[in-house]
Parts: sequence; C-alpha cells; structure tokens
Amino acid sequence: MKIELAKSYGFCFGVKRAIKIAENSSGAVTYGELIHNPLEIDRLKKEHNVGLAKSLDEIMSDEVIIRTHGITKKDKEILEKNGKKLIDATCPFVTKPQQIVEEMSKKGYDIVIFGDEKHPEVKGVKSYSTNQNRTFVILDVEELKNIKFREKIVVVAQTTRKVSEFLTITGYLIENYKEVRVFNTICNATFENQDAVRELSKKADVMIIIGGKNSSNTKQLYLISKQNCKNSYLIENEDELNPEWFKNKNLCGVSAGASTPEWLIQNIINKIKQIKD
Ligand code: SF4
Repeated sequence: MKIELAKSYGFCFGVKRAIKIAENSSGAVTYGELIHNPLEIDRLKKEHNVGLAKSLDEIMSDEVIIRTHGITKKDKEILEKNGKKLIDATCPFVTKPQQIVEEMSKKGYDIVIFGDEKHPEVKGVKSYSTNQNRTFVILDVEELKNIKFREKIVVVAQTTRKVSEFLTITGYLIENYKEVRVFNTICNATFENQDAVRELSKKADVMIIIGGKNSSNTKQLYLISKQNCKNSYLIENEDELNPEWFKNKNLCGVSAGASTPEWLIQNIINKIKQIKD
C-alpha cells in the first residue's frame, strides 16, 4: 500500500505564528486553547512552560497569550483592567473580520456572520459589533429567511467555512436586499488544504485525516474527504488507527487540519507503515 500526503496539509500561517509567539513566552498562560490541538498544548506546557487557563478566574500569570482565533472584546477589556500583559497571537485573518464588524456596525450596517455561533472565533468576531441586536450569526439560508434586515447589510464568514456555502448565502442576500457588502474572510489556508484533500480523496482507497476532534477546519477536511472516499477516518493520534481500515487497500491518503503538528503527522504515517507491513 502506498501512502500519499495531500499537497497542502497541517499547520497554516496563523498557527505557526501563534506557536512561535507561545514558544517565546515562557511563564505565560494562554486564555483558552491556543490552537485546537491537545497534544501541541501539552508540548508547549512541557517544553516551554506555557500554561492553559480555561476561564478568566484560572489566570494566575501576569502574562496572557490571546489564542489564534481570538477572544471577545469584553474579555480583552477585563484582562486589561486586571493589569495583565496581553500577548496577542490572534491570527491576522481573524483580526480582520473583528475590525470589519466593529467599523461597519458603527456605520449602521446590519451584520451577518456566516458561522457557528458556539465557536470561539465567531463569539469573538460578534463581540466587536457595536449593535448586538442587529448582528446575526447564521449557518444557512433558511435562517436568513426568518430575519427582516434593514437596508444596509455587511456579510463576513468564519475563516474556516466552505466557499460554496458562503456564495449561496451572499447570493440570497444580494437578490433580496439593496445594499449588501460582502467581505470574503474565509482564509486561504482553508482553501488550500481543502482543495488538496478533495484531489487526493478522489483517488485514495482509504483516507486518514489527522486533527483535534473539536477543530472545525479538521472536520471540514474530513467531510470533503468522506464525500469522495467512504473509507475516511478522523483521528487525533496513532492509537486510534485500526488495522482493518488498511486491508486490501492500494493507496492511503493522509491530510491534517490547520492545527496539527508535523511530528504528530509523521508518527501516524510511521504507524500506518508498520500496520501494512
Ligand atoms: S486557518 Fe487561516 S484563519 Fe485560521 S489560524 Fe490558520 S491562517 Fe489563521
């Protein structure tokens, strides 16, 4: 059995940047998970003494790293008020929709955020709106149909969303409202990893997608893969590999979410090699 890596996979620019920032911030804590990968968070703790605080009350350190997908404006203000030194590892692609939402809500636009309202990135982006009553987080067109918008609308997307779905949503708004300003805030890393997994899953007999099970971009990769290759599996570490998956298979494709470290990917590939032997 041949093992082939997707042309683009794993760490994106924003995550690499955040890890570098954390590695240089010994003694600090991240407020919330820096990236969606428990193993990398453990490594940062062990090798670089960077802790994790899950709530504001848990923060004992004076230095606080803001995670890749950002925090709410209110939490940021509380931290500043408590005299914490903030080390901002928010990905610039996440800062951008935060700024757009703040600026355009001030100008009187209704705001539509295409994304999952429970996701920390979306909570953060939404918090920057100066008019919370006119800011709507939606996941599909059906939800839009129930909302009566005013004249002017701004649309942004969670960075990891599918472009095709964003087009459906913006298309509906443009057809039905006069002034719709669309900001494509879906990030390139998502496109590249998605395109590569699409291509590879079309020819692979089995696909292994590596990443945190709570990572939305990893889940997207898995869903795309599953559309083309029914033997697609989402795993967090090598212990989850099942030898049965590889029986009578010729090509095993491998991809990984944007927060998956290279060492973990290599461990898993080595384990797959052992299995097939
Ligand atoms: S996936 Fe994109 S938005 Fe998210 S951290 Fe990476 S570069 Fe930034």
